[in-house]
Amino acid sequence: MNFLPLIESKRDGQTLTAAQIREIIAACARAEIPDYQMAAFLMAVYFRGLDPAETREMTLAMRDSGDVLKFPADPRPLADKHSTGGVGDKVSLPLAPLLACLGFRVPMISGRGLGITGGTLDKLDSIPGFKTSLPAGRIIEIVQTVGCVICGQTERMVPADKNLYALRDVTGTVPSVPLIVASILSKKLTESLDALLLDVKFGAAAFMPTIEKARELAQAMVTLGNNCGVNTRALLTNMDTPLGRAAGNWLEVKEAVACLESRAGGTPALLCDLRDLVLACAAHLLLQTRKARSLEGARVQAEDCLNSGAPRRKWDEMLLAQGADLDAFNRKLALDHTAPVVMEITSPRDGFVSRCDARIIGEVIRDLGGGRLAKESQINYDVGVDSLAKPGEEKTEGSLLARVHAAHEREAKAVSGALEGGFQVLLEPPREPLRIHEVIK
Ligand code: URA
Repeated sequence: MNFLPLIESKRDGQTLTAAQIREIIAACARAEIPDYQMAAFLMAVYFRGLDPAETREMTLAMRDSGDVLKFPADPRPLADKHSTGGVGDKVSLPLAPLLACLGFRVPMISGRGLGITGGTLDKLDSIPGFKTSLPAGRIIEIVQTVGCVICGQTERMVPADKNLYALRDVTGTVPSVPLIVASILSKKLTESLDALLLDVKFGAAAFMPTIEKARELAQAMVTLGNNCGVNTRALLTNMDTPLGRAAGNWLEVKEAVACLESRAGGTPALLCDLRDLVLACAAHLLLQTRKARSLEGARVQAEDCLNSGAPRRKWDEMLLAQGADLDAFNRKLALDHTAPVVMEITSPRDGFVSRCDARIIGEVIRDLGGGRLAKESQINYDVGVDSLAKPGEEKTEGSLLARVHAAHEREAKAVSGALEGGFQVLLEPPREPLRIHEVIK
């Protein structure tokens, strides 16, 4: 294949044909294009963009570069949620069993964390025995019998994205809306979904820093998802503050279980924003699949289901299906902490928490060893922060703002200054932070 004329076309701002895009992606999946040429092509796309038809063709060609999950006919709709990532974002963990109990099939193919944002698979790896790597046949079997699975993509899924993403990562071409849309949607489209909810985050610790950029990305993904036959919606949600009270792999699994065990009214204030977002995601998917008529009705349906305790039992069922040792898991859950050192950060004065900075907290967790600096980094699942004080809460001098879980005392001490700097306690209460800013459909 002579790839040069295609690079030149895109460099000069021309539109590529469907056949040309299919040819590029097929060759890329077979690793037939030299990296230097593919990198030049990606940079041309970064500056010249792709129009909606080109983006659609690239997305579908990437999806078709490998295996697509084929499910048997079943009245239960296939649904999933995808988040662009943040700190403390463990929504997928309680949401998958909740959706299964609401009558969905949930083939949740998830990813690992890189940098300061956590990855669902890393959190699940902290569960004794749990397998995140499953062959396609087993993914389908678990979805059909249990109703939900959370695992990684198989070796044979979307190989074009693997090759392209690795190159984008080292050529400064990640932040291109059409390339992000194609990368995310090509993977989601392998799940043969009826409905997809996107949680597009913006703010201090998000991939998209501003609401405007998040809206642009969300709009492009919603348009294309719907165009490809998947009922797609997006929530624009704020990521200036971590979600929930805990961040760090095992600490987030613990909090996800607490969310599954939470009850309306009896919910500790600490779980409110996590529980609210989980219920909102379920409610939107109920509406998208016409399993509910109004958002309010859908929310009540989701809340009743969560309160029934069935999703908590479904969680154990999913863990067993994916090889977890439930006794060891329950023993681990009963521990207050699994990291050797726990250190408290306290309020320097009386007042109201006005900032609990997700970016700083994400960096602290990464520095403690809970996140990756490079793809091959080993992570420590036990480290992180919990008992986080959230904006709006009243504190007295010396009361708890957060606990640091670390492998060694010197590491806990090394991050404590940075963590203290992530909090602000002022005399005036802040405005109530709005978590879901917009719904794009
Ligand atoms: N996540 C993905 O899967 N792909 C991107 O391009 C960006 C975020």
